[in-house]
Amino acid sequence: MSKQEKTEQRTLRVVSLYPRDMNMYGDRGNVLALLKRIRQHGFEAELVSVNCGDELPLDGDIYVGGGGQDSGQVRVAKDLKSKAAALSELADRGVPMLMICGMYQLFGKEFRTVNGEIMEGVGILDVTTVGGQTRMIGNIVLDCGELGEVIGYENHSGNTVLGPDAEAFGSVKQGDGNNPEDGTEGARYREVIGTYLHGALLPKNPSITDHLIRVAAINRYGEFTPAAIDDTAINQARQAAKSRPR
Ligand code: GLN
Repeated sequence: MSKQEKTEQRTLRVVSLYPRDMNMYGDRGNVLALLKRIRQHGFEAELVSVNCGDELPLDGDIYVGGGGQDSGQVRVAKDLKSKAAALSELADRGVPMLMICGMYQLFGKEFRTVNGEIMEGVGILDVTTVGGQTRMIGNIVLDCGELGEVIGYENHSGNTVLGPDAEAFGSVKQGDGNNPEDGTEGARYREVIGTYLHGALLPKNPSITDHLIRVAAINRYGEFTPAAIDDTAINQARQAAKSRPR
């Protein structure tokens, strides 16, 4: 097979976790943005959706999960138990994952809701969350180091605290983030990102989309040559979102 033919057949598989129960504030937009950008970078894009009771594909290149109500999280937390070991193994191997809000909480060690219900998480991220009386709602802006300025929207009552093995995803420039106190937002472990940012996150933050794709492409094909993509409209949307009041 020629090099050209091989390049044409390159595919990246996106696994969407629990789209039925965990899909708030446009989180499905993350999946759509990812699929579109994968294609713009010259790959074929495949989508596998995994809901409660479905088997977890182990050959995904990028795993994505969204936010949800506490009630939806209870169902998902039960199902996640059966998938926890496999997801941990994938995370340890450096497979990229993006978990938003409710799924971020469930990728932590534990989520205790405001009603005292305790959900055990998969523990990939060293964070714990406790539901509070006050909701943290509004536009949010982060400094995410090499990923630059990240813009999103948060709405959660869970207060998350990082343990010693968790690195924050970003520091808060505007908004609350993990909790109103410590100025951190989200958590990272290897190539797993957990964050409260909806909005949806990826359509407005191509630096994160490209990061996930770069890691996935290098994992699967050993290299990544990005395409030049015109982000003018995205940059305008970012500025509009940033200028909105909280
Ligand atoms: N139920 C969780 C909370 O309020 C998650 C909410 C969400 O995913 N937006 O903390």
